[in-house]
Amino acid sequence: MSGLKDITFIEDLELKDKKVFIRLDLNVPMKDGTITDDTRIQGALPTIRYALEKGAKIVLCSHLGRPKTEEDRKTLSLEPVGNRLSELLNVDVQLIENPVSDAAKALLPTLRPNQIVLLENIRFLEGEEANSEKLAAKIASYVDVYINDAFGASHRAHATIVALPHLMKHKAVGYLIKKEIEMLDKILYEPQTPFVVLMGGSKVSDKIGVIENLMDKIDTFLVGGAMSYTFLQAMNVSVGNSKLEKGKINLAKDLLKRLEMREKKLLLPVDHVIVEKFDAEAHTKITDGSSIPEGWMGVDIGPKSAALFAEHIHAAGTVFWNGPMGIFEVKNFAKGSFQMAEALAKSPCISIVGGGDSASAVNASGYADQMTHISTGGGASLEYLQGDKLPGLEALRERRR
Ligand code: ADP
Ligand code: MG
Repeated sequence: MSGLKDITFIEDLELKDKKVFIRLDLNVPMKDGTITDDTRIQGALPTIRYALEKGAKIVLCSHLGRPKTEEDRKTLSLEPVGNRLSELLNVDVQLIENPVSDAAKALLPTLRPNQIVLLENIRFLEGEEANSEKLAAKIASYVDVYINDAFGASHRAHATIVALPHLMKHKAVGYLIKKEIEMLDKILYEPQTPFVVLMGGSKVSDKIGVIENLMDKIDTFLVGGAMSYTFLQAMNVSVGNSKLEKGKINLAKDLLKRLEMREKKLLLPVDHVIVEKFDAEAHTKITDGSSIPEGWMGVDIGPKSAALFAEHIHAAGTVFWNGPMGIFEVKNFAKGSFQMAEALAKSPCISIVGGGDSASAVNASGYADQMTHISTGGGASLEYLQGDKLPGLEALRERRR
């Protein structure tokens, strides 16, 4: 079983002189008009390069952020992304302000081999998020081939992800989606054992589906981050003022019971880094055990927990990591997450990291290049792992005759 069954790959299509629409996820973090992390642009290059080499006439499309107001049209323009693409690919990038005007149609046939078209932020058009048939039809009228390589957006039923490929005869996935799905399929269908899931982040409720879907496949869950406090509370361990999902305590109890019945282990922190008041410079203390005193809050896993989790990571065949171990955005509370990145780097296991913040934590740790795979799509990778179908992939699937 593979998530790519009956889906065409870009290499199987004829691209020469064809007008090729490539939907990408170039939704990069920006500050004051400058790109702060170009991982997603880098991830898109193999597919663009391939299409360039094959002599395609290329139209690139992406969203950026969540534009709402007129003001957002300035701050969320793809112009800086176009400039970066131009540098990285050494091509001339023509930005088209309005993807539904006739500009793209007119420009495409005249493109020179070192020129590509980039459509302005597709979410500036209302029809994108509404999965508008009309928007899709307009684009379909000026392209021959549709490629989806926007893994990070493929869990959304939007016009350039779903409505457009439905209208296209020639359609395929690019290199990034292929790699992402193949990696995630390893976890879903053939994990090397022991299979360990390292989870953290802010909420249990975000990750329930993944825990449930992987429950029968995993050997051990290691749980840190704020979600561990809800589990600890479910076991009647006090967690002081730590971030807690009070409404999810019964759910946590239920999950613990189901894991126990399967004789699966769920390990929680055995010590914590705590502060009295949340502040980047706050004085920190380390607890003696798993409980947190009244008036204090957990901000990271403690050293004993990090060592315990690292032991399991070293002995694992596969580790999937989603969710930081603490408030890693603050330097003093990032240690536990960095120690997990180091453990993954030093373990011979297959290591797969999913989730936007987890990917940032791994990047900040300096161990990113030692992971087997870091997913570029947080939400999409979680939805896929929890067993949901990705609308963007379903729209590409050809029925077997
Ligand atoms: P991902 O994006 O990788 O899926 P999440 O969004 O679930 O991860 O979780 C990341 C967030 O969880 C971070 O913003 C981090 O600060 C927060 N977090 C982790 N540990 C704690 C904690 N102990 N208390 C409060 N917030 C936490
Ligand atoms: Mg997040």
